[in-house]
Amino acid sequence: MLDAIPTANLIAGQPHASGSRTLRATNPATREQLPEHFTEATSADVDAAVEHAHKAWLRFRKTSGQQRAALLRGIADEIEALGEQLIDRAVAESGLPAGRITGERGRTCGQLRAFADLVEEGSWVDATIDKALPDRQPAPRADLRKMLIAMGPVAVFTASNFPLAFSTAGGDTSAALAAGCPVIVKAHPSHLGTNALVAGAIQRAVEKVNLPAGIFSSIQGGNTVGVRLVQHPKLAAVGFTGSYAGGTALMKMAAARPVPIPVYAEMGSVNPVFVLSRKLAADGPGVAAMLAGSVCLGAGQFCTNPGLIFVERSDAATAFIGAVREAFAEQASSTMLNEDIVEAYRQNVGRAGKSKGVELDYQAAASQPKWSGEPTMAITDGKTFLANPKLQDEVFGPYTLLVECADAAQMQAIAEQLHGQLTATVIGTDVELVAASLLCETLTHRVGRLLFNGVPTGVEVCPAMHHGGPFPAASSPMYTSVGVDAIQRFVRPICYQNAPESLLPSELRTGNPLGIWRRVNGGMVRG
Ligand code: NAP
Repeated sequence: MLDAIPTANLIAGQPHASGSRTLRATNPATREQLPEHFTEATSADVDAAVEHAHKAWLRFRKTSGQQRAALLRGIADEIEALGEQLIDRAVAESGLPAGRITGERGRTCGQLRAFADLVEEGSWVDATIDKALPDRQPAPRADLRKMLIAMGPVAVFTASNFPLAFSTAGGDTSAALAAGCPVIVKAHPSHLGTNALVAGAIQRAVEKVNLPAGIFSSIQGGNTVGVRLVQHPKLAAVGFTGSYAGGTALMKMAAARPVPIPVYAEMGSVNPVFVLSRKLAADGPGVAAMLAGSVCLGAGQFCTNPGLIFVERSDAATAFIGAVREAFAEQASSTMLNEDIVEAYRQNVGRAGKSKGVELDYQAAASQPKWSGEPTMAITDGKTFLANPKLQDEVFGPYTLLVECADAAQMQAIAEQLHGQLTATVIGTDVELVAASLLCETLTHRVGRLLFNGVPTGVEVCPAMHHGGPFPAASSPMYTSVGVDAIQRFVRPICYQNAPESLLPSELRTGNPLGIWRRVNGGMVRG
């Protein structure tokens, strides 16, 4: 028999259910509420979670890489041990197919283990030593030693569209725990049961490695809970994945605190794709099928969804547009994550369709009784696009706007006006890609990831990935929320000057007891 899903807030290993208000999750495929009533956190619960986290941090920040690696691997093991109950619950709460959720579980556990390997090896702290030069003229140099250290308790706002990989034990949580920062998760109201199961797995892993329970809490509730969390004086940073409105609201709130803290928000992006003329003429149907598949994947609910496609007007472009239309007609409508998202999708598509100079060129019939997102392609010309910045707004769902540019100069002018993006893609033959160096150079300064001859959906989890970009794609262009470099969001440098050896952390001690890579007097050494 399956264990019942806990409905209380989990604060430092203890259930807290004193609040009078409750939340329920809804199955978007059936539009039925799921049975559990999840108790909203009270203000006292939020405060308790942060206080416990802060107290736990005093010990957690001193743990070794091996201890934190054991914790992260333990969390992955506990998540896998949840078996089909987790898969079934995440499917019921998201409307996503079981295969997708199973893949997401693999990605989540893979991320946790990748962070475990990183902190076990240890060189990520970027230890840098410039030894004293007592005889230097005209003034001696002091002994200076620098490394990265954990910032403190981190609040994680989980994403609706990745109930596992960007949620309770997702990239933000694993990065923060790897760094030595306790985590307080604000559960997404769409997948409260999935959150409760994963939170329980994290709690069991914390107990097994004998770390303080306060390093992890999970709280439920609406905006007031999130606001109190971000405003708590002992919170050190925020990780967020979601809307532009949500991300910027949290950024403003964090900046207005007496002591401002960083918010690492990954927000909307429309991921422009530029299809160059020769490629379009050579393989229009192939490119059209690839793009339509990417736009409609997972009901278009990816931050890397290609929401803008640019072509240069020509006969081949007209044929290509026909091929895109046909490729869209082959895409199925699928269930969207929740009622708000499906409503926002319909409103945004309606607004786009009413914009001057924009036409809804293809829209799948709305025939299904569920909350499905109908694949939609709109079309406009380059002049209209340049005149209306609102056409750059994200339409979260299986939608793209195809823009016919008058010529290459107009395409270039558009690239120069693009808002900050997670990605941009250029599709062309080898020869025309080389010739498009100015376009590519322009895009380089608009995005976090520039792709060639592919689609932006499908974000590899590896050290070379950068999933972020200039505002408004992300709050800071410096940081990634995917891959092990995501740890850098939750640490800060500390420099010790002339510190006694016994007061230095192991990473900076003479003799390098941990055997990590360090930059000593300008050169990388391990000895
Ligand atoms: P969201 O509305 O931004 O909410 C994400 C989380 O932030 C939720 O826990 C939400 O709590 C909280 N939040 C939002 N605004 C807040 C505020 N002013 N104060 C305190 N907490 C706040 O995102 P979503 O629910 O995941 O999806 C809605 C839209 O976000 C989509 O339609 C899409 O446009 C966009 N989206 C983008 C991405 C991406 O990766 N870029 C991913 C998913 C969604 P409450 O729910 O309690 O308000």
